Amino acid sequence: MMPRFFDKQGDPIEWDQHVRLSSDPNYRVIGSDTLLDRKLVSTIWLGIGLPGPITNPFMFETMVFTPDFEQIDSHRYLTLEEAKLGHQKMIEKWEICSGCQGSGFLLNSYGVACGPCPNGCTTGYLVGNDAQV
Ligand SMILES: [Zn+2]
Repeated sequence: MMPRFFDKQGDPIEWDQHVRLSSDPNYRVIGSDTLLDRKLVSTIWLGIGLPGPITNPFMFETMVFTPDFEQIDSHRYLTLEEAKLGHQKMIEKWEICSGCQGSGFLLNSYGVACGPCPNGCTTGYLVGNDAQV
């Protein structure tokens, strides 16, 4: 069966319209942010649904890349609102702490740890998260 296509609002569209919208970055890109350590958080509209009941549609997706373009995280959403919220959550999840540049310690001018992070973090990230790499 053919996949079905949807615009950002979730309304069905034809294949040729999907192709046209997909080639327009202003339409396709929901958010694109480079973090302090140069990770990229990118959220795009995909607009592809599967035939039958919608169980695993490719409507929106956030992907997180290292500066070497290794994908380290991703999440899919059904609606534009979820995608926008998810984009912000992904930024919060992966943004490093500005006080210690992600080290978790106060560093001296030689880059040696010489005390606790001035922002008080212990992990080097804004949000405590054991799953960080
Ligand atoms: Zn810190």
